[in-house]
Amino acid sequence: MQVKPHSALVLIGHGSTLNPDSSTPTMDHAETIRQGGVFGEVVCAFWKEEPSMREVLRMVDSPEVYVVPNFISEGYFTQQVIPRELGLSGRTTVLPPLFAGGPERQIHYCEPVGLHPSMTRLLLARAAEVAPGVPRAESALIIVGHGTGLNENSTKAIKDQVDLIKASGAGFAEVLDAYMEEPPLVNEWDKMTTAPHVIVVPFFIADGLHSFQDIPVLLGIEEEITPAASQMSVFKQNPHSLRGRKLYYSSAIGTEPMLAEVILDQVEAFDLDHPSPALSQTVASGTLPEKLIDWINQGGRQIGQVMVRPESGGWRLFHQVDEAAAGTGDLASFRSPAEAREIARHDASGAFRPLKSAPTLKQGWELFLTTNASLLEALDYLYPATVANWMRFLGGRIPPHTLKETLGRQTGMYRITGLLREDEAQSLVAATCHDGNCLRRIQWTWDKQTPWTTLPAEKALCSSPADPAVPSMPLLCTDACPLLVAAARPVVKDRLKAEADAAAAAALIP
Ligand code: SF4
Repeated sequence: MQVKPHSALVLIGHGSTLNPDSSTPTMDHAETIRQGGVFGEVVCAFWKEEPSMREVLRMVDSPEVYVVPNFISEGYFTQQVIPRELGLSGRTTVLPPLFAGGPERQIHYCEPVGLHPSMTRLLLARAAEVAPGVPRAESALIIVGHGTGLNENSTKAIKDQVDLIKASGAGFAEVLDAYMEEPPLVNEWDKMTTAPHVIVVPFFIADGLHSFQDIPVLLGIEEEITPAASQMSVFKQNPHSLRGRKLYYSSAIGTEPMLAEVILDQVEAFDLDHPSPALSQTVASGTLPEKLIDWINQGGRQIGQVMVRPESGGWRLFHQVDEAAAGTGDLASFRSPAEAREIARHDASGAFRPLKSAPTLKQGWELFLTTNASLLEALDYLYPATVANWMRFLGGRIPPHTLKETLGRQTGMYRITGLLREDEAQSLVAATCHDGNCLRRIQWTWDKQTPWTTLPAEKALCSSPADPAVPSMPLLCTDACPLLVAAARPVVKDRLKAEADAAAAAALIP
């Protein structure tokens, strides 16, 4: 596709506070597209992981931004959550400049990847990969979705793909849709097909619990959901001889590397549907990588637990406890910014780190970067959006928020958190956000009048914008994270239950 050096791509995924596999495909596809060099900048954001959607538009300098939801269909997230979190008002939204003298920004909101007709190509490729050499004329292809009835669009996206594959002349004996929670049910795969070979492809973006635990049980590959039903064992044992047939089961369609091409197809489709004059605006100076280098040149040396050491030909990053060993050859050595993602993903015990600002970064590594952009990319994997938050904060471009506002805009099972009281919030924030759990400094208050009385002064409201050359860059928390919102829920639930129990008991008293 046409190269867009003055444009940024923002890829939005769901993410998870529990499962590292949820965000992996989105980050993989972003890395593939970044290496392709089509866009000047490529970043990701997530609903349940960092960086958040509230932060992500600060992370790019480009005057034109394409936002692509890495979602399988239109629905609640693509129609409500993403536009709300990004402040979008339509297919193209013009936002004010990120820094004084900078350009206005045009934000183009593309359709979710799963809706693009070229998903058909991926499904056929995935079927061929999982059942190599198996004659299509003797095979049934089943595309599986969740199907709750809550979102008709997700079933429509699958039915559309079934129709497209049938019409493509791909040659399968049968092509069908099936669902976990509504008919036709995937556990009846043998009744709904007659072909001797049955290929099942989950129409999900990531290998979450549905594709590597729930569906294998429904198909009969596994007897019960256990942690042992790992991604590797389930997907690598093909074919499974079951119910008199050969069953081939693939990982989620969103993990297919070719999805990166579909993401670009979605951008191209946007341009075709919404033609606009080519952008001639550029960001001549004052970009985030340049501001980062300025900060280092003025003495900046530490971000969270990471040290930044300028050396001949680049910068060396390492854990603060490894200062003496850095550069001696005693540490595991890396040179690609993408390797920072693996370093940041798990702690020393192998546990997933959903909160990258937790003081649990593992030790024993060093990363040498040679360009401004690769240095920023690596730091964004280690401490997502930290450089952007700090530089925009110095420029006065981060509007103040309150926790009340954040909880008030929650929906679904977290809507109840809007009933949190100030006294509960004070305790909750003290218990969740202290330095032992998270190194970020809180930028928001309870409401516009009420400061935090349960936090030490240095934890709340960073107040040193006049000194951009602080040797340790503060990690700003500009909006309460999903972990805090999740922790608020049982607090409110327990209090409401206690109040209801007390009222019921009082009603019994004559
Ligand atoms: S809400 Fe608290 S725990 Fe979450 S990122 Fe902010 S400071 Fe850290």
